[in-house]
Amino acid sequence: MGFELLGLSDATLKAVADAGYTEPTPIQAQAAPQVLMGRDVLGIAQTGTGKTASFTLPMIDILAEGRARARMPRSLILEPTRELAAQVAESFEKYGKNHKLSMALLIGGVNFADQEKALDRGADVLIATPGRLLDHFERGKLLLNGIDILVIDEADRMLDMGFIPDVEKICERITKKHQTLFFSATMPPAIQRLTKKFLDDPKKIEVSRPATAGTNIKQLLIAVGPRDKRKALRQLLRSEDIKNAIIFCNRKRDVKEVYASLGRHEFSVGQLHGDMEQRERMETLRQFKENEIQLLVASDVAARGLDVPDVSHVFNFDVPGHADDYVHRIGRTGRAGRSGTAYTITTKSKIDSKLVDAIQALTKTDLPIDTDFHLERESRPKKAVAKTDGAAEQTQPEPESRTRGKQDHRRDRSTERSPRGDRRWPRDRGDRNLNMAPDDMPKEPFVGMGPHVPAFLLQDPTKKAK
Ligand code: AMP
Repeated sequence: MGFELLGLSDATLKAVADAGYTEPTPIQAQAAPQVLMGRDVLGIAQTGTGKTASFTLPMIDILAEGRARARMPRSLILEPTRELAAQVAESFEKYGKNHKLSMALLIGGVNFADQEKALDRGADVLIATPGRLLDHFERGKLLLNGIDILVIDEADRMLDMGFIPDVEKICERITKKHQTLFFSATMPPAIQRLTKKFLDDPKKIEVSRPATAGTNIKQLLIAVGPRDKRKALRQLLRSEDIKNAIIFCNRKRDVKEVYASLGRHEFSVGQLHGDMEQRERMETLRQFKENEIQLLVASDVAARGLDVPDVSHVFNFDVPGHADDYVHRIGRTGRAGRSGTAYTITTKSKIDSKLVDAIQALTKTDLPIDTDFHLERESRPKKAVAKTDGAAEQTQPEPESRTRGKQDHRRDRSTERSPRGDRRWPRDRGDRNLNMAPDDMPKEPFVGMGPHVPAFLLQDPTKKAK
């Protein structure tokens, strides 16, 4: 079936042909005609299925008629992350290049004044993250009663990120009768409730998960001790034939640490997590897309839906906490019929075993342990040089095993064995991480009490204790 059967205009079909698409994906074939008929749509689909074009293409044709007024956008697309919002904006530009539609992007981390100017000019399409949209609304810079089409994209991710109350607020403020297009990869109860409340007799369209069905992704588990995860990762990175790879961690803190550690070991690496400025995130993504950096360490939220077409490897530094996230993560590789490899680093802990079981149950795939993988000793690095001020400086990446106990006797003491025989961790460190090997700790020695400030020093001496 070709695109011409979907009912799209010639101008839109031309843009689609220029994008190089010859056939609509299943969600496009099913959703686009319904959207053009003005019907509400409930799309159960994840990224990688072509769902963005399934709503942008018909929206472009609907919005081609009519004009936007200042501060009264005619359509609104809600996205959970800034990157996804920016990606949808790119799609509008690509598919709408033969139309004269105006667009505004309201995302966090970007100057309010520029966004207000775009709203003042009038927007046919407003693409926004919920928090920033409400900020503008509450400042009186935006009216929502001109909205004809509302798109709620990646609703289950909105739920994970705690955005559902904001989404509900926004839906309630659109008083005009409008068409709603709602997309979610999964349908947990909170999302079902939302669809019942805000969708009017929707056409339900469900498409299969491309990643789970994909036989073109080699999936393997690496089982190591919790303190050897970084070493295992480095070994994999050095032994595999990697064009480019995304390394997923469960927590932002681990993203930062794995990124810093790989940098110290001289890998070409960038990071992507929610604490970064928007500008930095976009720049990192650009560098990764343009092969200026080979590895990207990312959190699930930051990487959700990123459209990086040709990733050769995915590494799960942690087994993801939700089986769904595994599907999303490995879906970054093996795209568009290419082959890909996904390694998951697991420990033998009960939690990891349970999470792996959940992934196997969801994907109906057996995740075999790579029995060929054995941790090797890393080559001997140059000796660490101690600075005169007491701070240790490394001249070259240091494998964990060699740094242990050498640089500073105060650190030695902090990792000595407790009377129970288990290894003691440095106490009173706000950033301590129980999964972190002692040698992954920051290399500066503690001076005095280190970064810890006892509570009594923070009390106001002029005030009586209660
Ligand atoms: P999405 O699921 O919207 O994130 O799209 C995933 C990827 O598929 C993007 O790189 C799109 O450019 C691409 N894509 C979308 N529709 C088609 C199509 N009909 N044929 C080939 N590629 C497509």
